[in-house]
Amino acid sequence: MAVVERAEAGPDGRRRLRLANPATLAPLGEIEVADAADVRAAVEQARKAQPDWAALSFDERGRYLERAIRVLIERQDEFLDTLLSETGKPRAEALATEILTACDALQFYAKRAKRILADRTLPLHLMKTKKLRIVYRPMGVVGIITPWNFPFILSLNPTVQALIAGNAVVLKPSEVTPLSGRLVGELFAAVGLPEGVLSVVLGDGETGAALLESGVDKIAFTGSVATGRKVAETCGRHLIPCTLELGGKDPMIVCADADLDRAARGAVYGAFSNSGQVCTSTERVYVVDEVADEFTRKVVQETSRLRQGAEGEFDVGAIIRPQQLDVIEDHVRDAVARGARVMAGGRRNPECPGYFFEPTVLTDVTHDMRVMQDETFGPILPIMRVRSEEEALALANDTRYGLNANVWTRNKRRGTQLARQIDSGCVVVNDCMLTYGVTESPFGGVKESGIGRVNGELGLKGFCHTRSIVIDRLGGKSEPIWFPYTARKIKGLQRAMRALWGTSLGRWLS
Ligand code: NAD
Repeated sequence: MAVVERAEAGPDGRRRLRLANPATLAPLGEIEVADAADVRAAVEQARKAQPDWAALSFDERGRYLERAIRVLIERQDEFLDTLLSETGKPRAEALATEILTACDALQFYAKRAKRILADRTLPLHLMKTKKLRIVYRPMGVVGIITPWNFPFILSLNPTVQALIAGNAVVLKPSEVTPLSGRLVGELFAAVGLPEGVLSVVLGDGETGAALLESGVDKIAFTGSVATGRKVAETCGRHLIPCTLELGGKDPMIVCADADLDRAARGAVYGAFSNSGQVCTSTERVYVVDEVADEFTRKVVQETSRLRQGAEGEFDVGAIIRPQQLDVIEDHVRDAVARGARVMAGGRRNPECPGYFFEPTVLTDVTHDMRVMQDETFGPILPIMRVRSEEEALALANDTRYGLNANVWTRNKRRGTQLARQIDSGCVVVNDCMLTYGVTESPFGGVKESGIGRVNGELGLKGFCHTRSIVIDRLGGKSEPIWFPYTARKIKGLQRAMRALWGTSLGRWLS
């Protein structure tokens, strides 16, 4: 049984998907798949609603966001119940990573967008007779496509940023967790967001592909590298901007002077929270020889304390999309066949009813193993012993991914130095993951982990066109560079060039 599978088409012939809880396998009902006509209708409605929405002030748009916080706080249990039914996450984890972070994002942008997107007037270094004004204009209609691992916050967060900037949004959440994605629409409906400003279209890859072709002005995509490539190709054909937040294979570097208790707990949290289904999960550990045994012992001990389950109090939940179990098992099998040792876990959890894989620690791993090369997206922590920090760094960078990374040392300066040398969009020193939750922090990847940044000032500006307005300050009948071109004009320009960049005083002034 899959958590999402084709159901019989309705009497009107429309495609339907049947859903189930990955932790308990309880049925969750069916959804109707939005087709290309539905998507086009949502985009048209958004196009009509957007100008009035953009005409509101930041404070007026912000008030909708602040009202949404109140609804989230009041109805958190109801929202959590839906989220847990589709994902099998521990309640505390879903509260912290989906609901609390949503409140923070809503408040952050409601309060700060006005300042971040305010017009800026800049004095010019050369053309003193002009001034430059930079204004941020909404793009129009933004299409947002999201994955299943954090189905609420990854759908809500870009939606909030796009909306506060004055865009209308058509959101297509993952078919694995459509009910959690739909909550974003329900939340904004509850605060009276004007009709059409936000539509949620449910469906699978076909619905996502239809959104790419629907005439939207930007795509904010979060998902796998394979789909990201298709999204980029289509956006390229339509010449519309896209941000691609894709997969990762995040390295952890443990230096000899690290606080090993903290590092071991950090490794366990970084690898096993959300059952390892986090784009910024710790997926590879490089620990220097001197402390490798002690670090590994502590990691195994911490791992043995984790409680896995489907109900009550537990730490590690289900595998949300059962196909992921095949990847996880394949990585463990491949590693073991090539000489890795299983120090904890290593198999599906037979005591849990649904899809579960035990938190797994591997040692004696080598860099040619799939578990060190490809994204696992599951609760697997491979630990590799290295001779030096330099070797750790070289191996950390020996990957086609570059999303996040973490470095552990008591010497914060050294930690920052190492962080600068890791090829990734984000790095954390003496903590893990985090960056997506630090609202100020631009988040995104390099290499195959993606293009562009979300969150913070940079992310918010990414939902706007930056328009430059250059204003003449003095007037006058003509400008020195305008027609006619004469020999005298050439001499004048040459004199100006020599004065400005041919002398040290000129260079200092310019
Ligand atoms: P996925 O690429 O299979 O699906 C993501 C979304 O794209 C879904 O809504 C899906 O329906 C849609 N889609 C599928 N085919 C499409 C197509 N041809 N055109 C348009 N849309 C299409 O990814 P997934 O399995 O849902 O998510 C897991 C992946 O997401 C992992 O690789 C993970 O690392 C990554 N991820 C990245 C971030 C980040 O911020 N960098 C965050 C979370 C997850």
